[in-house]
Amino acid sequence: MTEQWIFLNGEYVTKENAKISVYDHGFLYGDGIFEGIRVYSGNVFRMKEHMDRLYRSAKSIMLNVPYSQDEFTDIIVATVEKNKIEDAYIRVVVSRGVGDLGLDPNKCAKANVVVIVEPLSIFPKELYETGLEIVTVATRRNRPDVLSPKVKSLNYLNNVLVRIEAHLAGVSEALMLNDQGYVAEGSADNVFIIRDGCFFTPPGYIGALEGITRNAVIDIVKELGYELKEEPFTRHDVYTADEVFLTGTAAEVIAVIKVDGRVIGDGTPGALTKELLVKFRERVVSEGVKVYSKEATPHVS
Ligand code: PMP
Repeated sequence: MTEQWIFLNGEYVTKENAKISVYDHGFLYGDGIFEGIRVYSGNVFRMKEHMDRLYRSAKSIMLNVPYSQDEFTDIIVATVEKNKIEDAYIRVVVSRGVGDLGLDPNKCAKANVVVIVEPLSIFPKELYETGLEIVTVATRRNRPDVLSPKVKSLNYLNNVLVRIEAHLAGVSEALMLNDQGYVAEGSADNVFIIRDGCFFTPPGYIGALEGITRNAVIDIVKELGYELKEEPFTRHDVYTADEVFLTGTAAEVIAVIKVDGRVIGDGTPGALTKELLVKFRERVVSEGVKVYSKEATPHVS
C-alpha cells in the first residue's frame, strides 16, 4: 500500500493529518453513526444495502448527513480508487459534529464525515481453518426500546464490554444474550446455528444489528436449498447445535467450535459452514460492484 488517503469533510488528507476536534459530539458522546463495508478484488460488496442502513441510522437519530445517498456513494467509491487497494475494509463515520460541551445537538452546525479505506482481516487466516472458541457473557444486548441495535451508532460501549469479558475468558469473541436470555449476536457479528441440516438465526425482534452479511448468508442458504428459520434460541440450543458460525463484514463467515467450554460438533468447522464460506467468497466477488482494478482505469458509475 502506498500513501493512505482519508476523506475528511470534502478533502483527502493523510492519516497523520486526519484530525477531528475534541468538541466533536461523536468523541464527547458517541453521537453519530458508522458503517463497515468490504471491497473484494476491487468489488464493493452490497454498497446499496450498507448505504441504506447508514441513512436509516441517520434518520433514526435525526442526524443530517450533508450528502445525498448517491453523492455519498460516489465519495466512498472515489476514496477506494484513490487508495488503490483491491481488498479493503471501508469505515464510514458520520458524527453530529462540533458543538459545545453540552449535550444539545442543535449546537453542532455540521456533521463530520470520514471515510477510511484500509486492508483488513480481523481474524488470522488459520482461524477460518480451525474455527473460533467463544463464550457467552453477562453484558446484555441493548434493549431495542432503549438504544435500538438496528441503529449502527458510535455508541459501542456495550460491544466493547463484551470484548473485555471475552478477553478475560481467554477468547477473542463472545455472544450477547438479550434481556430475556435469548441469544442475540456477537460483539461485531451475527450468529447462526445448524441442527439436522436446518439453519437458525435470531429474528430481528430479539435485538441484533440487521447484518448485511447475515442477509447475504440467508440468501445463499436458501439458494442452496437448505431450510432456514429466523427463530429465537437459547444458549442450550447453541451448546447442542451441530454447527455454529458467526457472520460479519470483517469476520465474513467463521466457524465456532467451542462455546462456554462445550465442544460444537466434532470440534472442527462443520461441513455446511465450510460450504457456506466457499459460496460466500464466490458471491462477494461475482455480486460486488467493480470500483477499482490495478490493471484497468477505474470506473465510477
Ligand atoms: N452485529 C454488530 C453489533 C456489528 O457491529 C456487526 C458489524 N457491522 C454485525 C452484527 C454484522 O453486520 P454486517 O454483516 O453488516 O457487518
